Amino acid sequence: MAISILLNGARGRMGEAVALAATDLGLSISVAVDAGDDIAAALPGCDVIIDFSSHQATSALLESAIAHRKPIVIGTTGHDAEEKKRLLALAAQIPCVWAGNFSVGVNLLFALTRRAAHILGSDYDAEVVEMHHRFKKDAPSGTAARLLEIILEERKLTTSALRHGREGITGERTSTEVGIHALRGGDVVGDHTVMFAALGERLELTHKASDRGIFARGALRAAQWVVSQKPGIYDMQDVLGLK
Ligand code: NAD
Repeated sequence: MAISILLNGARGRMGEAVALAATDLGLSISVAVDAGDDIAAALPGCDVIIDFSSHQATSALLESAIAHRKPIVIGTTGHDAEEKKRLLALAAQIPCVWAGNFSVGVNLLFALTRRAAHILGSDYDAEVVEMHHRFKKDAPSGTAARLLEIILEERKLTTSALRHGREGITGERTSTEVGIHALRGGDVVGDHTVMFAALGERLELTHKASDRGIFARGALRAAQWVVSQKPGIYDMQDVLGLK
């Protein structure tokens, strides 16, 4: 089915990757918008919105999408927990795929992390390490945030268990903390490692992205899928049929 796509954040790295992937897949971006452009004027003529812009833009974008009853794919990251909770309540009024990472490999990493956290239990210290290019504006990454959410869920812990880096005399590590470390540098597209370390062994699950095209193709797949869904919040696991 030919769909008419509005791309928000079109002049950014991901925006350009989505436009390129769309051409490869025989899809077309009908409207490309970025900061300062009038989205509301362009919305009536499109079937679906894909957003890779800034977390500050999500609220207004969702209001416009709801007003025009347009399905949306949100790839933007960097929302804090409170902000995200409020935005998800808004987004539930329309069909919405919200994913911190659109790659198939990372979505399998989510599933493997859940299984490992479940089987290995709290005797295995869980730490997440991520690395991204020097231009990234938020930390930890949306993907790392999702990996942490999965570990916290499986361990029945809250966000107060998170340790964002360590410095100084921190004392011994407790079994109820989960570490997160964000490295930044160069042109790294996105690396994530989930580590489970016990006395005598260590399991590491690592995903390395080398091309933004994987996120762009996933977002386009999500856009084609979401246009025929009922209002509600979906993620890439729904799009890929992994649930
Ligand atoms: P970028 O800085 O290269 O591009 C962002 C673009 O959004 C810029 O062109 C900027 O002008 C534009 N923008 C800023 N405010 C805007 C507004 N209010 N309205 C419209 N456009 C606006 O960043 P990027 O590397 O392309 O990443 C964009 C977002 O996507 C980030 O939040 C990033 O973390 C996220 N991301 C998600 C995935 C995923 O799979 N979900 C993958 C990669 C990046």
